[in-house]
Amino acid sequence: MKLKTLEMKLQRLAGFPHPRAALEQYQTPAPLAARLLYHAFMKGDIGGRLVTDLGSGTGMLAIGAALLGAVEVLGVETDESAIAVAGANADLLGVDIRFITGDMNDPSLPARIGTCDTVIMNPPFGAQNVHADRPFIDVALACAPVTWSIFNAGSIPFVTTYTAERAAVTDKVSGVFQIPRTFAFHTREVQEISVEILRLERIP
Ligand code: SAH
Repeated sequence: MKLKTLEMKLQRLAGFPHPRAALEQYQTPAPLAARLLYHAFMKGDIGGRLVTDLGSGTGMLAIGAALLGAVEVLGVETDESAIAVAGANADLLGVDIRFITGDMNDPSLPARIGTCDTVIMNPPFGAQNVHADRPFIDVALACAPVTWSIFNAGSIPFVTTYTAERAAVTDKVSGVFQIPRTFAFHTREVQEISVEILRLERIP
């Protein structure tokens, strides 16, 4: 599938009906999601792989992975209403995805997820709850040898330090996250945030 085709398909997905600021519920814009997925695909991390989307929200990344030929996709999300939308979105594009409710801060979560080949995620950047992204990184490293994740631009020093002996950053792709006015504290119609997509490889 061409990048543009993937992007157009993902463009059709419904967003969060009632986005919750505390959970940093921002649907990844289709072009950025397609970019992450395509790079992961080209690296051999999607096709024929078991893929888990942490904080799957309305399913943008999970559904894209299924469209690119992941053999099995699991979405993990704390908000049940988002899971309901994600299920409808998966039906819309005709892919089969298993969604479960789970909180990244629950120590029993990695065992419930089990192991997979690749984690994909757009975790909270920690704008509402400082360090909200850390449990996502921990669960990702517990479950998969490879993780593709979106971070604020300039996060490599933090990610490298935080994952220290556990993982290495092997790839970086720059991108832009366009956030339409969603919450009362947003002052602009559209805010552009520079981001980077990082690939982490677990150190055995
Ligand atoms: N992956 C989706 C959503 C990204 S927004 C996409 O790319 O469009 C971040 C998501 O993480 C939201 O759906 C939010 O509800 C979820 N989330 C935030 N904190 C969480 C936690 N502690 N455990 C599980 N999910 C969480």
